[in-house]
Amino acid sequence: MRPQLGPSKAGSLEDKLLGFRGPALPGMPSAPAEKRALITGITGQDGSFLAEQLLAKGYEVYGIVRRLSTPNPQNIRHLLGTVHLLDGDLHDQASLETAIRFSEPDEIYNLAAQSFVGVSFNQPVVTGEVTGLGALRLLEAMRSRADKARLYQASSSEMFGQGVAERLNEGNGFHPRSPYGVAKVFAYWACVNYRESYGLYIANGILFNHESERRGLEFVTRKISDGVARIRHGLASDLHLGSLTSQRDWGYAPEYTDLMWRILQPTVAEDYVGATGETHSVEEFAREAFRAAGIDDWSRYIVTDRRFARPADVDHLCGDATKAKERLGWEAKVRFPELVHRMVQADLARHARTAPS
Ligand code: NDP
Ligand code: GDP
Repeated sequence: MRPQLGPSKAGSLEDKLLGFRGPALPGMPSAPAEKRALITGITGQDGSFLAEQLLAKGYEVYGIVRRLSTPNPQNIRHLLGTVHLLDGDLHDQASLETAIRFSEPDEIYNLAAQSFVGVSFNQPVVTGEVTGLGALRLLEAMRSRADKARLYQASSSEMFGQGVAERLNEGNGFHPRSPYGVAKVFAYWACVNYRESYGLYIANGILFNHESERRGLEFVTRKISDGVARIRHGLASDLHLGSLTSQRDWGYAPEYTDLMWRILQPTVAEDYVGATGETHSVEEFAREAFRAAGIDDWSRYIVTDRRFARPADVDHLCGDATKAKERLGWEAKVRFPELVHRMVQADLARHARTAPS
């Protein structure tokens, strides 16, 4: 029988976030949900979009939240009261098993990670522990507690690293260029191995970079949209960046969380690439962002700063999502200029609230 998640248990974590509690989402189903989903990394960019989308489909959504000295619920503030939040950490096997036992999920989405490549060079062991071994701990918890569930693993184009092909798909080999990429390759193969060894339903989404107004401020796209908005509002005078020549295949995050759900729907578990099929340089992103903010002489604001260069970098990434289009009916629709404009407009509006008039 399914253990009851008493209100005090669910409430205890939300109580800590009480100051941030938002209204219930309109249109939430009151009848018992048909399906239950458990999301690790629900407070992150992707976790928050995915939770919204699953709630809209009528899922009962559980999210694992780790203990921080100061909670950071900004991405899920509007969902508090509509999702069940459970204490847990990818370092802690028992907490993952408890979360699975309480939630009895039909679908598990492993989105939690030390997700920033730059930091992975300074904290390689933590990155390996969370991004690599953390996934393995979750697989073990699934194997012992929820072997009928379906699991999505957030794999990454960073696994391709120094890729050999112009456009990369599911058939290309991996050559990671950072501790983050190495940890993701470990998690990827652990998922394949558990699928083959135990017949579990486990699927990797090998997603290329996807961004939004909820992207962490340390990633280059958000750093640029935020920096440009600060300059526009007179809150900053320049923007320090590392390599301007790196090229990425940047898409819009909510489309990629929709792909995550689609990946778990077919009868047979398989791995899929998610990408736009277009690549642009950091310099192109910066130029487009300044244009979106109405600033023409963009290059005078850019300072090349070696502190943001990496010991090894991935110079070029471009994905081929043909399999996802043909099998899952998925295609990235938001294109580069629209993505940049959305992000810049959101940061302009955010800073307008605090900028001196
Ligand atoms: P974020 O960095 O926004 O979110 C990461 C999440 O992981 C946060 O909720 C964070 O919690 C949580 N987390 C970190 N450490 C732990 C831990 N020890 N235990 C439990 N939770 C933890 O990442 P995104 O939403 O952008 O990405 C989601 C996943 O997809 C990640 O695994 C990422 O590596 C992968 N990915 C992302 C791509 C992208 O372009 N966005 C591309 C390809 C893959 P907290 O809020 O407490 O920090
Ligand atoms: P990544 O693809 O997961 O590493 O995403 P990032 O947004 O962190 O970096 C994308 C590319 O932008 C990498 O090649 C970085 O080296 C490059 N880049 C250039 N300047 C910066 C910077 O100031 N910050 C970050 N994060 N990346 C930068």
